[in-house]
Amino acid sequence: MAKFEHVQVPEDGEKITVAADGTLQTPDKPVIAFIEGDGTGRDIWRASKMVFDAAVKHCYGAAREVAWMEIFAGEKANSVCGNYLPDETLEAIQEYHVAIKGPLTTPVGGGFRSLNVTLRQRLDLFACVRPVRYFPGVPSPVKEPGKVDMVIFRENTEDVYSGLELQEGTEEAKKLIEFCREAYGWNIRPDSGIGIKPVSIQGSKRIIRAAINYALKHGRKSVTLVHKGNIMKFTEGAFRKWGYDLVREEFSDVAVGWEDCGGDPGGKLLVKDTIADIFLQQILTRPTEFDVIATMNLNGDYMSDALAAQVGGIGIAPGANINYENGMAIFEATHGTAPKYADLDQVNPSSVILSGIMMFEHLGWTEVSEAIIQAMTRTFANKTVTYDFERLMTGATLLKCSEFGQKVIENL
Ligand code: NAP
Repeated sequence: MAKFEHVQVPEDGEKITVAADGTLQTPDKPVIAFIEGDGTGRDIWRASKMVFDAAVKHCYGAAREVAWMEIFAGEKANSVCGNYLPDETLEAIQEYHVAIKGPLTTPVGGGFRSLNVTLRQRLDLFACVRPVRYFPGVPSPVKEPGKVDMVIFRENTEDVYSGLELQEGTEEAKKLIEFCREAYGWNIRPDSGIGIKPVSIQGSKRIIRAAINYALKHGRKSVTLVHKGNIMKFTEGAFRKWGYDLVREEFSDVAVGWEDCGGDPGGKLLVKDTIADIFLQQILTRPTEFDVIATMNLNGDYMSDALAAQVGGIGIAPGANINYENGMAIFEATHGTAPKYADLDQVNPSSVILSGIMMFEHLGWTEVSEAIIQAMTRTFANKTVTYDFERLMTGATLLKCSEFGQKVIENL
């Protein structure tokens, strides 16, 4: 067992192991790492942990329990370990496989593009999975939010997020501009900043494979590849092509591409594609046509926020970063640290609670996920909500963050 300087490994917990096919073997008392998060993360984590522990007890009595292990990132890591992202945090996640986290402040000028992006890339958590579903009673800006039921698979390790950017006016930018002119006859304005985005066959196929496997496992009807391939033919257009190739190569007995069936999958899973701008219209005008979505990093970022808004906003949007090849995963709040509300016990903890639901599914403890979903459904239907929903509802009862957690527990 690795020895950590700051991380205390719970003595009575057991390690999750991973089978050769990437599936987790979860013991009855698994060690699960958590990062409470900065700002409002502290309040949110306290309320969420209370719900998780109560739901596990509700489902399994004394037979199962989570052995929580705190690991450090963000401001707390800087004060405890003198570093915003200590190596031992990454090592602990690698060794214990599953972690859950609250939001983190990205230090300005700290050498990181974002702590979240760094965690995803260094651990190769290639799939950012964001289910978007509506809970009746939650305030929404659209007329029929109940029609939205999608799961986004956003590629996490490529695209502009891992590409090179060169600042306008620097020697490097000038050199690249000159190279592009000489090698490709590409005349870039000399006062340009430059960005390069890589999109690979391997990166594209593994995210599309994960989306298709998820759709098959959960009895979903379709997977839509969302891209801007009409303009970026060799990155986004290639993503689309590689997706259809993958269906033919690996899934021909259970799935079929639109190109090969003209829209009639004959009982198989339908894999289709759409251009990103049309997609953003159609999720509003005909959301029932979309089910599982597979897309690249930047598109996925925009789409998950747009869809989250349709079903109640970022206070209620869960997320997971998963490597489906080795089972490693970090479940996380998708909103930020909302620093003005820090330690006021006020914000909505639903994003982390719903991320926990995904975590329990990943662990194979589906009874816990189902129990929490039902309890949250009752809590929202009874109009017992935090400030962000209360201000948009009539006749709602305003609860603090911790009170909302308590209410979910009462509704288990
Ligand atoms: P933010 O923290 O997401 O907050 C923006 C607004 O969203 C808040 O003022 C609040 O709106 C609402 N909100 C956020 N969390 C909420 C919750 N749990 N319940 C209810 N409402 C919630 O965005 P930001 O202010 O732009 O970013 C602050 C810091 O967070 C930055 O350092 C940023 O880098 C970081 N960040 C971290 C993550 C992450 O860790 N995953 C993601 C994004 C940003 P109202 O004021 O209208 O109530």
